[in-house]
Amino acid sequence: MKLFAKCIKCRREICFNSNQKTRVEFVMYEGKTKALTCNHCKHNNIFKVNELFAKESKFALIIACAIFLVGTPILIYYVPIFLLKYGGIYSSLVIAGFMLVPIIVYSNILKEDRIRVNTFNLGYY
Ligand SMILES: [Zn+2]
Repeated sequence: MKLFAKCIKCRREICFNSNQKTRVEFVMYEGKTKALTCNHCKHNNIFKVNELFAKESKFALIIACAIFLVGTPILIYYVPIFLLKYGGIYSSLVIAGFMLVPIIVYSNILKEDRIRVNTFNLGYY
């Protein structure tokens, strides 16, 4: 996942990729410090593991929104067809259940992402 650190000189964020999910893992596999060169001011920073942090992923947010935005109209389009074909209270309940799917997927993706971020950020080494 993407990890971030703030450049000591210009305070801008430097981002890099890491396979580690917690700071403890990071120390085990990559050491207690991380050397990063700032892309803006070219300052060579050496960060302690506790200065690195994770952020909620824009990618997860985009995927979650896409599922929500694409899934909901598809359902709204197919629901009347389904209702005309099968009708009845039972199928209405089934449809209501299906309507929740994009919402559930959306909130699950965001929840998983928040857990990932918190797991890293709240576990100090
Ligand atoms: Zn900088």
